[in-house]
Amino acid sequence: MRLMVTGGAGFIGSAVVRQAIAAGDTVLNVDKLTYAANPENIANVADHPNYQFSESDICDMDEMARLMNQFKPDCVMNLAAETHVDRSIDGPGAFIQTNIVGTYSLLEAARNFSKSDDAPKSFRFHHISTDEVFGSLGPTGEFTEDSPYQPNSPYSAAKASSDMLARAWRETYGLDVIVTNCSNNYGPFQFPEKLIPVVIIAALEGRDIPIYGKGDNIRDWLYVEDHADALLLVARKGKPGETYNVGGRAERTNLELVKMICAVLDDELNDSPHRPHEGLIKFVSDRPGHDHRYAINCEKIERELGWTPSLSVEEGMRQTVLWYLNNKEWWEAIRGKGFDVAKRQGLGQQ
Ligand code: NAD
Repeated sequence: MRLMVTGGAGFIGSAVVRQAIAAGDTVLNVDKLTYAANPENIANVADHPNYQFSESDICDMDEMARLMNQFKPDCVMNLAAETHVDRSIDGPGAFIQTNIVGTYSLLEAARNFSKSDDAPKSFRFHHISTDEVFGSLGPTGEFTEDSPYQPNSPYSAAKASSDMLARAWRETYGLDVIVTNCSNNYGPFQFPEKLIPVVIIAALEGRDIPIYGKGDNIRDWLYVEDHADALLLVARKGKPGETYNVGGRAERTNLELVKMICAVLDDELNDSPHRPHEGLIKFVSDRPGHDHRYAINCEKIERELGWTPSLSVEEGMRQTVLWYLNNKEWWEAIRGKGFDVAKRQGLGQQ
């Protein structure tokens, strides 16, 4: 497959790029290299003959059209986005621009490309989204592909808008558009402003682990490599026009998750002065509009495409903690370039 991945220098996009190259696909990675990107995430494929990179902005429609006409992708997979909920509360503008205008510009470029003689017959547009578009659940129930959209943060509202655009380009223009909505990801190479790496680094350094509210907000967690595996499967075998939910069948409260991380650190760092690490947990006042619970029903992708997560959250979290312990130089090198664990007010969802 010739795959044009946007946002491929970020957390999930880089996992997709690494897996696609390993599977023999040819990849064009299009990334603006914002603060959230890190070329180190794709260092092991940078010199591969099947890998190309373009530093560009998905909002630049002419450039997106030029890249599609030149590369002739079988699939455009759109992962480029502004992704941090707290940042979206402080400054929603960039989220509107990249997540909505950027998706529009890619869809238009893809629509024009799909009509050209050069476009592969099976050309498709795969838009990557989140379960946060569905809003918040009470103690029971799960999001299905038919759940109504009820986004509550500027991030999720912008993602919901982009999903709607993708749907409209399918219904109105007949573009082969697939949308996937996934729960919270964790794993190697996640920028240390998100819950899991912030907790690991704060605990390692003996700092407070500030958790929003009572830590009873519930999220479903999926190992990033399992998400990348699902995305490549959907890109290859998903039915045209469908949406698929992707999740880990691993609902945990934030407090349970933080305690899980602390227990791994206790096991690994016998002589740490900060043991037991859960003693560092500190509850702080809640984030505005903090959704209580997300739970995702992923029976459709399991049934239709035979995908299931390969790792339990306990095993995936252990591997993740070990990765951050063994790759200090990766996160030390970006300290001060957009993240400061010591300054985080509170920790909740992503
Ligand atoms: P990330 O913040 O780690 O990476 C985003 C990447 O997009 C970065 O490399 C950045 O440079 C690039 N980018 C941003 N604006 C751009 C622009 N205008 N043009 C080109 N590139 C641009 O994000 P992530 O966590 O890897 O998320 C990837 C996608 O998956 C997003 O669409 C996100 O909404 C979705 N998603 C994330 C999660 C999660 O838990 N992280 C869960 C479900 C869905």
